[in-house]
Amino acid sequence: MSDLPARWPNGARCAVMLTFDLDAETTWANGNTSFAGGEKFIRSLSLGQYGPLCGVPKILDLLDKYDLPATFFVPAWTAENYPAVFQKIAEAGHELAHHGYHHERFYDKSLAEQKEIIEKSQAIFKRLTGKVAQGFRTPSGDWAEKTPELLQEMGFTYSSSMRGDDRPYRTEINGQVTDFIEIPTRWELDDYVQSAYNMYPAEPAGQDRISSHRWVLDNFSREFDGYYRFGLCYVPMMHPQIIGRPGRILMLEKLIQHIKTCPGVWFATGGQIAQWWRDNN
Ligand SMILES: [Zn+2]
Repeated sequence: MSDLPARWPNGARCAVMLTFDLDAETTWANGNTSFAGGEKFIRSLSLGQYGPLCGVPKILDLLDKYDLPATFFVPAWTAENYPAVFQKIAEAGHELAHHGYHHERFYDKSLAEQKEIIEKSQAIFKRLTGKVAQGFRTPSGDWAEKTPELLQEMGFTYSSSMRGDDRPYRTEINGQVTDFIEIPTRWELDDYVQSAYNMYPAEPAGQDRISSHRWVLDNFSREFDGYYRFGLCYVPMMHPQIIGRPGRILMLEKLIQHIKTCPGVWFATGGQIAQWWRDNN
């Protein structure tokens, strides 16, 4: 596979799409509903609040320091409740993409319900930044069978939700290969899976202990080495409430420094990667 042709702009060897899912309290509020009195778990909600209030400022500073573009997948509820943070991300030139209104599961929603969530969210994006989202990441698991068709009809150009490859691909809809691009990511590149921790309610369920930052950095770095070696599209999926902690933001800086030692890496937003893939593959 070392002889793979260059697939990226200007002969770059691989692409990097830095992504941040700004869930804020939505995941905790949804997760807590299965517990009696879960809505009163004020401490777990505060873990979510940390994301926009303390995580995002550190992330924006880091991206600015290295002059890197990123893509933020933001439930519109977060945008509505933290409008200044949302607008600051837009003003810094990063891409804002769709992640549900309140981080809803799409797989058990009717098409009409999915449409309503998207329309409501796009109106909020438009009101706050003057633009609607063109990218989609499915919140809380899978999407429904007809979701990609709906997304394409509603003007989305790409999704970053699936796991089916290490580089983008065209999504098949109703037996047809389409222009709707999937930019997959993986659990190995998800900071939540490796590092989320809360005592009550236990998150993740059956938790053992917090992963060593050193080993998480090692995982992320070794995955990058593989993506670089094979000319792929590296898409770490990070959450400001996790990666935005003081020690972990330094870990992310070390990862960026590691990536920067490799020549020919194209850092791009989801919209840029989808556009390039559509035009060149
Ligand atoms: Zn999320």
